[in-house]
Amino acid sequence: MTDAPKLIDPFARAITYLRVSVTDRCDFRCVYCMSENMTFLPKKELLSLEELDRLCTAFVDQGVRKLRITGGEPLVRRGIMDYFRGMKRHIESGKLDELTLTTNGSQLRRFAKELAECGVKRVNISLDTLDEKKFAEITRWGRLAQVLDGIDAAQEAGLRVKINVVALKGGNEDELEKIVEWCADRGMDLTFIEVMPMGDLGNEDRLDQYWSLKDLRARLEKTWTLSELSESTGGPARYVRVNETGQKIGFITPLTHNFCESCNRVRLTCTGQLFQCLGQEDEADLRKVLRDNPDNDAPLVAAIHAAIAKKPKGHDFDYSRQNVAGTMSRHMSHTGG
Ligand code: SAM
Ligand code: SF4
Repeated sequence: MTDAPKLIDPFARAITYLRVSVTDRCDFRCVYCMSENMTFLPKKELLSLEELDRLCTAFVDQGVRKLRITGGEPLVRRGIMDYFRGMKRHIESGKLDELTLTTNGSQLRRFAKELAECGVKRVNISLDTLDEKKFAEITRWGRLAQVLDGIDAAQEAGLRVKINVVALKGGNEDELEKIVEWCADRGMDLTFIEVMPMGDLGNEDRLDQYWSLKDLRARLEKTWTLSELSESTGGPARYVRVNETGQKIGFITPLTHNFCESCNRVRLTCTGQLFQCLGQEDEADLRKVLRDNPDNDAPLVAAIHAAIAKKPKGHDFDYSRQNVAGTMSRHMSHTGG
């Protein structure tokens, strides 16, 4: 039996889903995510693996049933498998329903099997193009072959794979149908994401990259029949079933849809800040509470509850005017996408 959720926010939403960024570092430099010469945080700012375990365990004890590990690139964090091995105990005890991660796929050949052994059943892998040259342009430092091999490794290990594609005007527009077919052939679901106004990217012009998913979806409907699925994960994704292929396609449209009313999640940064909402600057410094109280979790639990009690109703992103209102100063890689 599932215990009643213990973390309820002021709008009666039960918080059962924690996304955790375990590092701000990455082996890629995707143009919409980071500038090429990113400055990363000093190591001591980051939560140690032990601190991550302690914090996540506190959330699990307070009713969180799903953990998604992200970054930066979670699999470049040294020793990250120790963390996954630690979380396995919560899956085994039945306290946690799901342990999962979002990755760029570059390290999956090394880690997929072990992730599966730790209780991970599904992974989201980000891949915006199947064209080698374009892949190198978008990720700057990535190699397509390595990611494709990582996807193979994940499937060989029995992990279910969902591909995340950021819709990029002038970037992957011409590959839309090809990507859908490629995923269908490999039995993979697919989610399209609208570019969000996160972080300062130097020269990249965010409005130039923006491709509305409304347009993208209309294009899909020229080739396939899409049936609306009613399911909601409590997040910003809407799902359809492609009748012809059976695959599920999600659309994450934080800018054109208001999904906040069903939000069930909070985000922990790699430095232990808890963001109650992706689109608001409000945060709680859980690292300080953790480090001030090395042997006592009661203040930590109290701080978590206090933070949830301040979860705002919704966010303020808005592309509708010709400047990007509600733009966030922090990077996605810090907060965790
Ligand atoms: N490195 C991992 C990866 O790429 O999957 C995990 C972290 S990444 C920040 C998580 C997701 O956020 C990826 O699917 C990425 O494409 C997406 N993302 C990054 N910056 C974004 C932006 N500005 N707008 C929309 N999605 C973004
Ligand atoms: Fe790295 Fe992921 Fe950001 Fe790309 S989207 S730079 S892979 S963190």
